[in-house]
Amino acid sequence: MKIGVPKEIKTHEYRVGLTPGAVREYVAAGHDVLVETNAGAGIGVTDDDYRGAGATIAGSAREVFASSGMIVKVKEPQPSEWTLLRENQVLFTYLHLAPDPEQAKGLLKSGCTAVAYETVTDEHGGLPLLAPMSEVAGRLAIEAAGAALRRYAGGRGLLMGGVPGVQPARVVVLGGGVVGTHAARMAVGLGAEVTILDRSIPRLRELDELFEGRVRTRFSTIDVLENEVFAADAVIGAVLIPGASAPKLVGRKMLSTMRKGSVIVDVAIDQGGCFETSRPTTHADPTYEVDGVIHYCVANMPGAVPLTSSQALNNATLPFGLALANKGFAAVLEDPHLRAGLNVHRGRLTSRPVAESLGLPC
Ligand code: NAD
Repeated sequence: MKIGVPKEIKTHEYRVGLTPGAVREYVAAGHDVLVETNAGAGIGVTDDDYRGAGATIAGSAREVFASSGMIVKVKEPQPSEWTLLRENQVLFTYLHLAPDPEQAKGLLKSGCTAVAYETVTDEHGGLPLLAPMSEVAGRLAIEAAGAALRRYAGGRGLLMGGVPGVQPARVVVLGGGVVGTHAARMAVGLGAEVTILDRSIPRLRELDELFEGRVRTRFSTIDVLENEVFAADAVIGAVLIPGASAPKLVGRKMLSTMRKGSVIVDVAIDQGGCFETSRPTTHADPTYEVDGVIHYCVANMPGAVPLTSSQALNNATLPFGLALANKGFAAVLEDPHLRAGLNVHRGRLTSRPVAESLGLPC
């Protein structure tokens, strides 16, 4: 099959659907890969790097869409791309269709077959193509907290790990899933004092074993939350209730008990955030202050490190993408996890939760 990789055109999106390493895998499996010129510029990858991996370079997105059986992207197609998609063409990318009726209309009209990264499942009930971005965001959360704790950034002027003889920062992580675990790992690595709160006792058991006593785990009740938030230098918001908005765990009153210059990093902001005082921010202006507490609430944290994020995303998408390239639509019929990723096929919505959110037939 011919696989097309257009350059991402959404504002500030620097990731790329296929890295040269992934291109080599597709080429080795007998596929042709057509990459739009400069598609890798945002991560420092040149057209020659792609040629070296076995790809052909196309001069325009139009050319890529016109001659490829499958399009591999990162972000949802932008309006100018809807009209380039064709009937029976496979689109493999993040879509986040549920809150985006215009996008749904555009894809339904195109007749394409769209498999959305974020709804592909795995045998453990997880979302394997979302997890790598949660890993990146979790690790970045501690870098963001460390930067915000510096005096010139408005923070308490505290070094995350302290130094011998000096108390390190107290980091409290709300939610011990993928984001929370990776945040805790970074914070422990820097020498901070780390506590993870979760409502799942089995998960707290796993974390206790994983960190071998280097983090404290606590079942999250209102009492525990109040005590932990009060004493924290940095609180990381990493809860998720699948398919729902994030619960507002920390209200304004609880926030106001925190010391001036302490920090919250609300990673769950893409689901509305778990602090009452959170509102989405951007990489260009990532923080603001409420009651003396620095808030970092960037909704697309992995976008700050597109090189790492592209590689992590490609590692996760590769087996699914190769299955689609090798077998075409049959791959979706054979594999229930890829089937869970199918959102649109021949002008119809094919994911019940997505259709229900949009109020459209499935
Ligand atoms: P996950 O499902 O792996 O983990 C969520 C954890 O929250 C689970 O362990 C769950 O038991 C726990 N939880 C649920 N309700 C809770 C409560 N009331 N109190 C304490 N714990 C509770 O999810 P994840 O992949 O770690 O994602 C976490 C959040 O980060 C999601 O909202 C996700 O969308 C977001 N995220 C944001 C970015 C960004 O750029 N801002 C990037 C990636 C992920």
